Parts: sequence; C-alpha cells; structure tokens
Amino acid sequence: MDKPKVTVIGSINMDMVTTTSRIPVKGETLIGEGFKMVPGGKGANQAVAAARLGVDVNFIGRVGNDHFGEILIEQLIKQGVTLTGVEPVIAESSGVATILLAEHDNRIMVTPGANNHVTPEYVARYTSIIKQSDIVLLQLEIPLQTIEYVADYCKREGIPVILNPAPAQLLSDSLLRNVSFVTPNETEALAITENIKEHEDKMIVTLGEAGVRYKLDQKEVTVPGFPVAPVDTTGAGDTFNGALAVALARGEEIKQAISYANAAAALSVLHFGAQGGMPDAAAVANFLN
Ligand code: ATP
Repeated sequence: MDKPKVTVIGSINMDMVTTTSRIPVKGETLIGEGFKMVPGGKGANQAVAAARLGVDVNFIGRVGNDHFGEILIEQLIKQGVTLTGVEPVIAESSGVATILLAEHDNRIMVTPGANNHVTPEYVARYTSIIKQSDIVLLQLEIPLQTIEYVADYCKREGIPVILNPAPAQLLSDSLLRNVSFVTPNETEALAITENIKEHEDKMIVTLGEAGVRYKLDQKEVTVPGFPVAPVDTTGAGDTFNGALAVALARGEEIKQAISYANAAAALSVLHFGAQGGMPDAAAVANFLN
C-alpha cells in the first residue's frame, strides 16, 4: 500500500543565531559570544516533523539562488522531504531570520526573500502534487493570496487542509471556511478572526504544556500536555502540526490524531533546536505505549 502523502506549502529560512550577554543599544558594537546557523522556517520545520514520522512529504516553496539555498535544500533532502516543488528564485536571497539571543531578551528580524515568490501562479505549476495529497499543511510565512488560492483549490478538490495561522494575522471568513482545521496557539487564536464562534468547530488551540483545546461533538475538550521536563520548546508547535498532518493522512480520527500530535510535540521539547528535537515514528509509538 502507498504511504500516506502530506504536502507542505510554506517557508524555508536560514536562522542565523548570535548569542550575546546583552542586546547592543543604538549605535553600539558588541562582541558576541557565539554564532550558529540553523535551518528553519515554519514550512520546512513542519515538513521535517512529518517526514521523520514516516510518511511521504512533498514540499512546495522557494529558496534564493545563493549558498544558503543550497544548504537548505540539502538539509531537507537529507530529512527525506521530496522537493520537486522547490525552485530557486534568480537574483533573490533565501529567507533569513537574524536572531540576537541574550539571556532574558531576544531580537528577531525575518527577511522573507524567496518565500515572497511562493505566489499563486508558482503553486499552480504543482497542482498535480497537491491533487495526490491526503492532506495539505499551510502556515502564514508565504503570501496570504497563496494561502487563499491553495485553500480554495483544495476545497474544490476535496483535499483536507490544516492551516497553522502563524505568525498571526486577521484572516477572512472565506479562507477559514475553506480549510478543515486551524491550529493557533492561544495568542494567535485571539488575533486571527473576529468571528471565532463561526469557526470554533475547526479550531485546535495549542496551550503549551497545558496541551490542546478543541471541540468534539460540540463539546469543548482539553487534552492535557504530557508531563515532561522541557529542555527547549522551540519548534513544539511545528512538531505538533507536522504530526497532526501525519495522523490525519493515515486516516486517524481527530481525537487520536490530536493525542498523537500532543505526544510528538511533548517529545520534541526534550531536545535543543526546532528540527533537532523532532521524534521519529518509533519514538512516538514507544512513548504512547
Ligand atoms: P512554538 O512557537 O514554541 O513552536 P507554539 O506557541 O506554536 O510553540 P505551543 O502551544 O507552545 O505552540 O505548543 C504546541 C504543543 O507542543 C502543545 O499543544 C503541546 O502538545 C506541546 N508542548 C509544548 N510545550 C510543552 C511542554 N512544556 N510539555 C509538554 N508538551 C508541550
């Protein structure tokens, strides 16, 4: 039997992280303590989370025609993500997040670069990939028109869509109607719609260590988080979304799918880094037994 197919349409970034004792003030030059480059972007992170769990993952997105683009592509291939839908943009930089990390403070700038070129016209070249998917997973780090285009296309084709509304922005009712599940964290849940009542039935709200809240048979259910000792919660949300897509693509009911994603996300906080901590299928199965 064919493996379930998840398609992720979203961002790829290089995170450039400088650690420092404090954030420099205006006009000041400081000597940093350390530096590392880590592949990121919510789209790429969620694709890696899903691929680790053993399904076929196709990615549709873009990098620049620069050295970062080459590294980012290499990393995704290494993780088993299929990149037929990734083309470099000529004369554009790859998406970059510049991060200053001090002990109790940080400053982050995201430059989307090539991610801004994931337009509806670009994605339309890859509808054959989308058509074969059991589920499509979207975030908000590519142009909103593209998200709207994909949601509309999938609605017409009968393909379920999970929308992780991060970073949060106000979304139209028609977009929210066209997707199957919306997965904000608590802060995002307050920012994405003025009509929360209308869309309540598809909201799966993540609550950090407190777990997940959603509606089942019109009743609000809270699934507590697994009690673990977190080392680094970066990427917990991305792991949750990737794992939720995997479980739903395998045909699991929403209740089981949420438990599975809750477990995968709990395991992810036990290790440093977003992609670094994402568990494989065996680790989640062991944890749940
Ligand atoms: P991030 O931006 O850090 O990736 P997020 O804000 O998108 O995360 P959260 O609601 O913080 O999302 O976490 C997503 C899911 O990860 C939670 O619903 C839960 O399943 C799991 N999780 C997060 N933190 C913990 C924790 N400390 N212990 C157990 N599970 C956790």
